[in-house]
Amino acid sequence: MNFLIAKLPNKIIKLLVTFVLMIALDANAVEWLGEVQLAVNITFDLDAETLWWDNPDTMVGNPSSLSQGNYGPMVAVPKILALLSKHNVQATFFIPSWVAEEYPDTVLAIVADGHEIAAHGVKHIPPVQLTPSEELNVFAESIRALTDISGKKPLGYRAPAWAFSDVTLKIAAEHGFIYSSNMMNSDVPYVHAEPAGLVELPVSWILDDAPYFWFDEGSWNKKIHSAASVKEIWQEEFSAAYEARGYLDLTMHPQIIGRPARLKMLDDYISWMKGFDNVWFATCSEVAEHMQKIHD
Ligand SMILES: [Zn+2]
Repeated sequence: MNFLIAKLPNKIIKLLVTFVLMIALDANAVEWLGEVQLAVNITFDLDAETLWWDNPDTMVGNPSSLSQGNYGPMVAVPKILALLSKHNVQATFFIPSWVAEEYPDTVLAIVADGHEIAAHGVKHIPPVQLTPSEELNVFAESIRALTDISGKKPLGYRAPAWAFSDVTLKIAAEHGFIYSSNMMNSDVPYVHAEPAGLVELPVSWILDDAPYFWFDEGSWNKKIHSAASVKEIWQEEFSAAYEARGYLDLTMHPQIIGRPARLKMLDDYISWMKGFDNVWFATCSEVAEHMQKIHD
């Protein structure tokens, strides 16, 4: 068999691997509970000022630059919490622990409304830029701070900028995380073979607010999209996922989605989604726990 494979052209081997992978992913198609047609995770990465520290195009000493980050916890989050409460849906907030310590009242307000707090590094440095021992320290510090402030150990991990190293998921599993929300190799949740049992809640750029709206001092060649055009794209994504009995992970940033017109769009979009039957609006850990149950 190995001899036969060795004689096949690379293109054919790649096609065969893709085909086998497609079968494997299809075999793992999600069985939602009861009548559930679609699971929706509404998520926010509350990066605050750390997003601007991570950006080489911005001047970290410039108060105007940093104020774009401050807008997230101080202006956007209260409005987002009111919006989520109005629709009676729970969300998951991935928070760098530096942000949690800088804005503990914001974290407590999120927790008080029943939303989930999950890990997103300490100062938003992508793990791919760290050594394995630095990564270990960041995980320990992030868990300690989030647990101290929120009163609950985080169960989920999203790497800053989704840029993690080849040991990040192993470290996450060893630190008791039950899910990762980083990968783009599936449109439905799945369970990793390695590290065994770690649930993946996949993400995608098309369902992220940053590609459409992100703008700063280094973005002059970029066009800001209208909220209406993004709603149209997100409605298309929802409709297709609903038809496929799949999954939708919205990745948003309070400092980006939190502008008035964009929040109005999010308000309309959630109302529109709630018009469909059997949509399960859940926190990420609820979906991960469901995946663990059906996987056992
Ligand atoms: Zn982030």
